[in-house]
Amino acid sequence: MSTKQGKVVIISGPSGAGKSTLVQRLLQTCALPLELSISATTRPARSDELNGVAYHFLSPEQFEAKRLAGEFLEYKEVFGQGFWYGTLLKNIEQGLHLGKWVILEIDVAGAMSVIDRVPDAITIFIHPGSMEELERRLRNRQTDSEEAILRRLEVATQEMANRHKYKYQVVNKDVDAAADEVSEILQALEDH
Ligand code: 5GP
Repeated sequence: MSTKQGKVVIISGPSGAGKSTLVQRLLQTCALPLELSISATTRPARSDELNGVAYHFLSPEQFEAKRLAGEFLEYKEVFGQGFWYGTLLKNIEQGLHLGKWVILEIDVAGAMSVIDRVPDAITIFIHPGSMEELERRLRNRQTDSEEAILRRLEVATQEMANRHKYKYQVVNKDVDAAADEVSEILQALEDH
């Protein structure tokens, strides 16, 4: 008996597009064997984030040691503030081996690096609807300083300009509907 080979699913979109909530909803509702890859980061944990659940929170030295040991599939400094984020190769290899559909929730630059190494990765861009809606969501979160919000909006504009590089685009106006749409996209690819 052979195990079905898993797949790599990349989900990107500007910070504030509602990716994390959408991915959580997808994990609960989609019938496919999905698994979320937990990235490593040197960013400090927010008050509601648990180590090993939201991210593996590492010191810059720990991150650098993993980088030198070749443990990352890709790594990027995401908001130009000295915080690093990286996808751990081990997560992907283990998941694929078990036939899982491994979800990477990563930025556009990281996605482009992964596509170079995993050309058949499924790529989905989550669109917030409009930049005004995005700004409203970022401000409502009340987790970031004004400077951080402006930086995230600047990066968001660049990310939106790259959305055509993704195979699928999903507008997230209603998170349940958007999660269903992603689920349908994935299920249609099941036998490919
Ligand atoms: P946040 O700080 O809001 O959790 O995430 C900031 C950004 O970093 C998000 O756009 C998220 O998709 C991205 N990100 C999270 N993990 C990774 C990763 O492992 N690699 C890359 N390249 N980006 C990541």
